[in-house]
Amino acid sequence: MMTPISKNSFLEKIKPSVRALTPYALKHVDATVKLDMNENPLDTPQPIKDAVIERLCSRRWTRYPELVPQVLLKKLSKFSAWPVEGLIVGNGSNEVLKTILLAVAGPGVRVLVSQPSFSVYQHLVKISGAEYREVLLTPDLGFDVKAICRETRNADLTIVCVPNNPTGNTLEPDVIRDILRSTSGLVIIDEAYHEFSGTTAFELLKDFPNLILLRTFSKAMAMAGLRIGYLIGDPAIVAELAKTKLPYNLNFVSIAAAEAGLDHIHLLQANVRRIINLRMALEARLKEVMGVETFHSGANFILFRTPLPAPVLFESLYAQSVLIRDVSKAPLLDRCLRVTVGTEEENALFVAALEKSLRQGVTKHTTWGEPDPHIL
Ligand code: PMP
Repeated sequence: MMTPISKNSFLEKIKPSVRALTPYALKHVDATVKLDMNENPLDTPQPIKDAVIERLCSRRWTRYPELVPQVLLKKLSKFSAWPVEGLIVGNGSNEVLKTILLAVAGPGVRVLVSQPSFSVYQHLVKISGAEYREVLLTPDLGFDVKAICRETRNADLTIVCVPNNPTGNTLEPDVIRDILRSTSGLVIIDEAYHEFSGTTAFELLKDFPNLILLRTFSKAMAMAGLRIGYLIGDPAIVAELAKTKLPYNLNFVSIAAAEAGLDHIHLLQANVRRIINLRMALEARLKEVMGVETFHSGANFILFRTPLPAPVLFESLYAQSVLIRDVSKAPLLDRCLRVTVGTEEENALFVAALEKSLRQGVTKHTTWGEPDPHIL
């Protein structure tokens, strides 16, 4: 029989910083209209899938993938107009972030994060044992650039998500330049959603060897299930960061998919334009819904606030099989929820369910269950 958790004395061997964490977990997972994870609503185009399947069938699965995926790196280098030596690919951008933190963060290292933002930053920084500090957005949910510039002076690493998850707001490169000028530390700009905004801090890379861009194939590239992410940075820094990367971290299915995605980039870019149009239509439609306040987004999701408590509205939508994200536990986000831009049909079903819930006023506040933990 297993030892009851409370009696396992070896638990104290787990780092206190880890034991203090709430697991990264979600309670609600399935729904007819699933708009909770900022996934691409348009499936990976068929020519990409065909190319991947052909590659997989013509290869022995017993063999390891390439230690360093040279062909993929070359294609990525051409695509991003940056040398191979300045790129690291990984198993999702989450893993690439973990690689950076393994090389940089630890006790005595100060990491600054603009919040509310993607909760994995805080999670991984705390696991590393580094000193975690945050700067809040302004009350109207813009970046507090002044405060970031002030606080980044004392930070070894600063992480800013642009466009920001879950608020969708962006930062122009000129403003990011001010942040880079204010610090003597490294700065990660997480550009997971940049393709939907039309802005990137890429042009700053040549002047700032402390800048690292984090990118993913999970959103605009429509491959969240394949786990591919990468970073772009100064080759000297990248050579050091790469030492903390696990060998064979990218499997050959992901490598083949990433290559095929880059080979058919025009198909994915056309879908990004469609998603931007869907976002504009959804934002305009949400503005018509009584009592709803929307925040302009440069990503593939929209943050909105309603008069109802967010957990109540969340559960009411979920009861109609519409799953979005309750982000209201984060600072400044009282009564806020985040919806991923879906297909035209999904967006219409979501708005109809939202209007129904708001019309009903969803009065049975007290009967709803506990909301998901604070995960953005
Ligand atoms: N960065 C941000 C801001 C995100 O919102 C997400 C996913 N929700 C990620 C990174 C994770 O990306 P990946 O799937 O590449 O690990």
